[in-house]
Amino acid sequence: MEKNTVKVLIIGSGPAGYTAGIYASRANLNPVIYEGNQPGGQLTQTTEIENFPGYPEGIQGPEMMDQLRQQALRFGARIESKTIARVDFSSRPFLCVDEDGNEVLAETVIVSTGASARYLGLSDEEKYRGLGVSACATCDGFFYRKKNVAVVGGGDTACEEALYLSTLAKKVYLIVRKDYLRASEVMQKRVREKENIEILFNCNTVGLFGEDGVEGAKIVEHKGTEREQIFDISIDGFFLAIGHKPNTDIFRGQLDMDAEGYLITAAPTTRTNVEGVFAAGDCADPIYRQAVSAAGTGCRAALDAERFLMEH
Ligand code: NDP
Repeated sequence: MEKNTVKVLIIGSGPAGYTAGIYASRANLNPVIYEGNQPGGQLTQTTEIENFPGYPEGIQGPEMMDQLRQQALRFGARIESKTIARVDFSSRPFLCVDEDGNEVLAETVIVSTGASARYLGLSDEEKYRGLGVSACATCDGFFYRKKNVAVVGGGDTACEEALYLSTLAKKVYLIVRKDYLRASEVMQKRVREKENIEILFNCNTVGLFGEDGVEGAKIVEHKGTEREQIFDISIDGFFLAIGHKPNTDIFRGQLDMDAEGYLITAAPTTRTNVEGVFAAGDCADPIYRQAVSAAGTGCRAALDAERFLMEH
């Protein structure tokens, strides 16, 4: 098996990972970025990004991530289209093993593994995955042209997905478990103004049904109260937009994390509890989770790694 030694190993390739790659390569640290199984991260699954500074007209998510990638390559970052499967942070250089069993020895590591979509935990979600159940409207919305679909969630993501789907589908149900939306005012307004979006407040999905794919969902309104009632909605697509889980399982037991799995850093730095290991982006950010804040922490992680290498 191959064995490489690198000064800076960056695990993950969203705005945080690529920005860390840009900074570390400009500092002549020859970083290696392991892109993982979703190169570019979550933004490659979104449509238009309107709030990243520098793009007054907005930019498509995949295009922006490609630009960041090109920028990292331009200064000499090496990009591996692979996943790091296992790490050992007990001694330096750190041993990291990729999915093929190749070992990388890293003097510093920047963890920027991002987060993945959450599911409700219904067995029907598994049963119909790829058969009507999706966590990415922009990836799969196309299949539901002129059909009925549902989006679960009341945050900005759910509103964004519902709005996107409303341009394709005949009707979009937005299933919200509380009696209000958590999304920003501007997103709420856009959703409310869309004629083919119906918001089902106080509703939980308890099951899906259908012969060869999703044909409907079983909904409970006012669950557990006197007003509880159960009804079915007829849908072909069921989209989850209920938040994300940080991709930090391979670091469990080695890096400090909170109850949800977000890595804990020594603010205002990106230092983790292991000297020489830094964390950036959504995997360490339960609060802001924005592309621009992820890019900012990627920059800080690269500067922290550079300083660490100078001192050691
Ligand atoms: P959020 O955590 O903001 O919202 C998650 C939503 O899912 C909430 O409405 C929550 O309900 C609901 N939910 C969670 N678990 C369940 C469950 N088991 N059953 C039913 N509903 C559930 O996540 P988002 O992904 O929407 O947003 C994450 C961050 O990214 C936010 O800071 C958001 O502002 C930002 N963002 C910004 C965008 C933009 O600016 N263009 C676009 C997308 C996201 P409840 O309210 O009851 O907890």
